[in-house]
Amino acid sequence: MSAHRQSTHDKQTAPSGGVGDGKVYWHEGITPLQSTRAAPLDAVDVLVIGSGYTGLHAAIATARGGRSTQVIDTHSPGWGCSTRNGGQISPSIKPTLAELTRKYGAERAMAIRNEGYTSLEWVGDFIKSEGIDCAYKRCGRFHAAHTPAHFRDLVEDTERLGREEGVPFEIVSRDDQHKELGTNAYFGGVVLTRHASLDPAKYYAGLLQVAKDAGVAVTGNCPALEITQEGRGYSVTTPMGPIRAEKIIIATNGYTTDLVPWVQRRVIPIGTYMIATDPLPKALIDRLFPKDRVVSDTCKVIYYYRPSPDRSRVLFGGRVSADETNPAISGPKLKADMCRIFPELADYGYTHSWTGTVAFTFDTLAHLGQHDGIHYAMGYCGSGIGMASYLGMRLGQQLLGDPDGATAFDGLRFQTRPLYFGNPWFLPSVVRYYRWRDHWQIKRAATLS
Ligand SMILES: Cc1cc2nc3c(=O)[nH]c(=O)nc-3n(C[C@H](O)[C@H](O)[C@H](O)COP(=O)(O)OP(=O)(O)OC[C@H]3O[C@@H](n4cnc5c(N)ncnc54)[C@H](O)[C@@H]3O)c2cc1C
Repeated sequence: MSAHRQSTHDKQTAPSGGVGDGKVYWHEGITPLQSTRAAPLDAVDVLVIGSGYTGLHAAIATARGGRSTQVIDTHSPGWGCSTRNGGQISPSIKPTLAELTRKYGAERAMAIRNEGYTSLEWVGDFIKSEGIDCAYKRCGRFHAAHTPAHFRDLVEDTERLGREEGVPFEIVSRDDQHKELGTNAYFGGVVLTRHASLDPAKYYAGLLQVAKDAGVAVTGNCPALEITQEGRGYSVTTPMGPIRAEKIIIATNGYTTDLVPWVQRRVIPIGTYMIATDPLPKALIDRLFPKDRVVSDTCKVIYYYRPSPDRSRVLFGGRVSADETNPAISGPKLKADMCRIFPELADYGYTHSWTGTVAFTFDTLAHLGQHDGIHYAMGYCGSGIGMASYLGMRLGQQLLGDPDGATAFDGLRFQTRPLYFGNPWFLPSVVRYYRWRDHWQIKRAATLS
């Protein structure tokens, strides 16, 4: 456990003053998020470090279980990915059933896959039961193929998902594609009908209120600087004074620092980027997104996009590079990518361009567990709305000793690699290569059509 250094990811908001200033579209739909307590409690049962979906869900579970619970964040509550994401909810398990079966056997593999479906259902049920007003909608996802070969693979893979995992889907041929999406850029796709959408910042604001009502203290501008073991508990140094805690949860995902170097060595921070277009004519949005679905594609460096909940704009996201942190530079690149898919949007500008840092893992699975008595949940590999919420809640239950907290992730080895200490030096070249390959495949496919 060591002192916290200023992370490079903390630079995600560039100086203000224009469209490239890092302003997040979603932040305009909520009142600024405030700490529920200006200064942290000095002694608690549970201290949660990181105030996103993971941290708040864990805290709600422990507070409802009768434990005094403090959440702290380096920035204001919800500053991380949890108020700046694309609002697309998926099951979030990247490895296939076959891949997981090879590593863990058939039963464990299916249990892990099922956690993804459970998280997708659970987050929707939570939002409904807590009455959170966040434009939650079971809209379905159109997952589009960027080449004919990818369409064939996609159909085969999705049919297998239907057969083996009971996933409902619809296949959409290129001829029918315009019923789903107003573009000729793809070669058909599949609709995954259970996927959902929401306004991530409104979801977060509602969650913060639920946490407050449960008695959780949430304090922003209070970074955890160092963790020291003291007797059977811990003391955490912060600029607002030390906090003593029986138990600690690290919920820092893509913003994980060397506070616990063992954890930092196991997550790979990756920047991802979004823009929000100017308000668009209704007829244009209706043509581009006739079914109001969320969209992603089969490119290795994936694009994800959707209409805004009020159907006035396109919110377009992707991973334009691995090392760019300046939204003034990522914005024009994203716009060019968007206009390749929707040439009609070339006449319109964009009003917001922002970025955030997600956490990947070496086995592309999320992980929860404990190291030297310190608990953690993280590594959602770019899709954590459902999974961060769900695993945060389960981790909270585990701290209470509640048997319901058990998950199929428990005890999975959280891998690192030799010479990896938290700085993904290999990423820029990997992302550059995959982007080049995607673009080459797209160009080649265009000559076939
Ligand atoms: C642009 C973008 C688009 C995305 N789109 C989607 C999507 O469409 N669907 C989806 O499912 N997921 C999406 N994601 C990912 C999703 O938002 C994350 O997986 C999820 O929000 C992770 O939640 P979290 O609570 O674990 O972490 P975060 O919300 O990132 O919170 C971590 C917090 O830890 C704090 N912290 C770090 N170190 C310390 C410290 N030492 N002391 C105190 N606090 C600390 C940080 O300040 C931060 O606020 C997207 C992410 C981004 C950036």
